[in-house]
Amino acid sequence: MAEFVGIDLGTTTSGLAYIRSDGNPEIVPNGDGERMTPSVVYFDPDEEVKLVGSAARDGGDPSRTIYQIKRFMDNPDYIVDIDGKMWTPTEISAIILSKLSRECSNIVGDIKDVVVTVPANFNEFARKATIAAGKIAGLNIKRLVNEPTAAALYYAHAKKITGNTLVYDLGGGTLDITVLDIGKYGDFEIFTSEGARHLGGANFDEIILDMIAGQYKDQRGADLYDSDAQKRRMLQEGEHLKKMLSKLRKASETVGNDTEGISRVELTRDNFEDAVDRLLLRTEMLVEQALLSSNLTIDEVDHVVLVGGSTRMPAVRELLERLFKKPALSCGNVDECVALGAALFSKQSLTVHEVCNHGYGTLALVENAETGEELFLNTIVINKNTPIPCSESQTYVTSEDNEQLIEVEITQGEDSDPKYVDVIGKIGLEVPAGRPAGCEITVTYAYDENQRVKVIVTDETTGKSKQVAISYNGQGVLSDEEIERKTAYFRNLQIE
Ligand code: AMP
Repeated sequence: MAEFVGIDLGTTTSGLAYIRSDGNPEIVPNGDGERMTPSVVYFDPDEEVKLVGSAARDGGDPSRTIYQIKRFMDNPDYIVDIDGKMWTPTEISAIILSKLSRECSNIVGDIKDVVVTVPANFNEFARKATIAAGKIAGLNIKRLVNEPTAAALYYAHAKKITGNTLVYDLGGGTLDITVLDIGKYGDFEIFTSEGARHLGGANFDEIILDMIAGQYKDQRGADLYDSDAQKRRMLQEGEHLKKMLSKLRKASETVGNDTEGISRVELTRDNFEDAVDRLLLRTEMLVEQALLSSNLTIDEVDHVVLVGGSTRMPAVRELLERLFKKPALSCGNVDECVALGAALFSKQSLTVHEVCNHGYGTLALVENAETGEELFLNTIVINKNTPIPCSESQTYVTSEDNEQLIEVEITQGEDSDPKYVDVIGKIGLEVPAGRPAGCEITVTYAYDENQRVKVIVTDETTGKSKQVAISYNGQGVLSDEEIERKTAYFRNLQIE
């Protein structure tokens, strides 16, 4: 039995690490011998087999291949239709987790209890969906840890750093900037996390694809691709060129298709960096925003650490070193450090002071004290960056006699205008019949260390309290019974 296991369930790649008997974390390769497994699932049309990883990514029909499912974990409406059978992002993630746990257990022994990492800005629904994915895969997720926190723990372990640290995590699909203080005695105080959900290596690949498609058109007078399958292949060629340009100042590649023929395209690092300048500028703005939210100046940051495969681009390192006037630290295995940190997390009893990465509130009619005008507003109950665990209360009053149900919409976001926040769920507050209007009901929002929101309702008339589940609507939402059923179904699912 592998006792201490951490899993990085990533957007582009996933990995599993465990703690060796000497106390150090180590990546466990999958059954194909790879240290990190591409987070890609292929549904074979002929056999009841689900392929995961490089085999899924490199072959087969794009319409049966699911990439970057993690981007949709927070979307209760998202669903994938394969031959008329519906798959939720939770189940696709469970397929990836199953591949990792089943194959890695051949090396390190049975895997049951795990720590799984999630992006710092994952919302309540996405966290709940991740825990369900673990359950369906036969795992018990004993803790969700934010990716930058796990990475910082790995750096603290491997590089023995302490002090104010900025974690710059640029992966395949997302950017996360986290500022924290790594204490001398292993306590971590997170100040803030700023993230861009759709800014990652894939955006750089799209730009490179445009560049090579332009050269191809100049040379052959034809389009480089005219189908999704061709585009995907050319994106892979573009990604390959991008990685070459991280090492060389100039790189070339043969691209094309059967109909229009093959051409050789060449890119220089300078041209590439000019083309991606606006993406880098966006990442710089988020760094500045994160410093502002943490009340730290550039000089007060002791370490800048690199996480995520895209930080191998020299322009990223140069940007950070120009900004902070000090070397950015890299552990080399920038794409493995989240899984390694998660494994450390499963072993060590650490004190981590996290903060809420979103504001949470409710939609309510609010009376303007001066004009008496009633406005429908988002009222924030828990502010972003509040240290957790925390709980805050808000009191509602029944507006009519004999009102028996008060419906409260839970929002996520920082704006008071309902247009700019997401309604993430609803709770229904039952009030006993026969009461006059104006009865007080207090709703307490508690945010636990897994960054899950709990809602406790207190009827002020009787003093009775109860916990209310946040309910989500959407075709991608799984009920507890469905999760049980799918857990049983997955035991016999062939995953390779
Ligand atoms: P991660 O999500 O951390 O696994 O990062 C995956 C992303 O890192 C993908 O977009 C890769 O293309 C990118 N990546 C990996 N190695 C390199 C490299 N040498 N140069 C540029 N990007 C890279």
